[in-house]
Amino acid sequence: MTSPDFDLRASIRSIPDYPKPGIMFRDITTLLGDARAFRRAVDELVQPWAGMKIDKVAGIEARGFILGGAVAHQVSAGFVPIRKKGKLPHKRVSVAYALEYGEDMIEMHADALVAGERVVLVDDLIATGGTAEAAVKLLRQLGANVLAACFVIDLPELGGADKLRKMDVPVRTLISFEGH
Ligand code: AMP
Repeated sequence: MTSPDFDLRASIRSIPDYPKPGIMFRDITTLLGDARAFRRAVDELVQPWAGMKIDKVAGIEARGFILGGAVAHQVSAGFVPIRKKGKLPHKRVSVAYALEYGEDMIEMHADALVAGERVVLVDDLIATGGTAEAAVKLLRQLGANVLAACFVIDLPELGGADKLRKMDVPVRTLISFEGH
């Protein structure tokens, strides 16, 4: 098998101690700037659901918009932005989630999807899974059938993918990095 992991891993730039000491930031701008890697990532993200009916792709601000938009185009689905608090202009639904210090909120337009629609969630990276868990709650609040959550990068030691699987969400990740 030609490993998608092999090509894609080399296209990710790792920046130590950003945005603060002890964090290894996994920068996907290098992947996005490489036409072959970008296409490969988009194709691989939805490969298990290719041919299935997908009504909407939901992307998490901000890198999930870039990947999710491309995925939506690829599978001929609509795109739904999941945004940080205060950015969406129309009637919203929101879910709070815990940060390292304090909490934050993500929002979606209340008419962004209708109950029963088949939705795939996309973001660049899953770490603790707090953001994605809140996004799944938000989608389910509107009655979405969350088919899967897809991420280019998994930090498995932080347990995010397991957290989503416990919510009965199938998880697709392309590259794992050990450590934080
Ligand atoms: P979490 O809610 O802990 O799963 O964090 C996921 C969100 O934070 C994603 O939207 C990522 O883009 C971002 N993130 C967390 N850790 C990193 C990291 N080491 N490198 C790049 N982005 C990260």
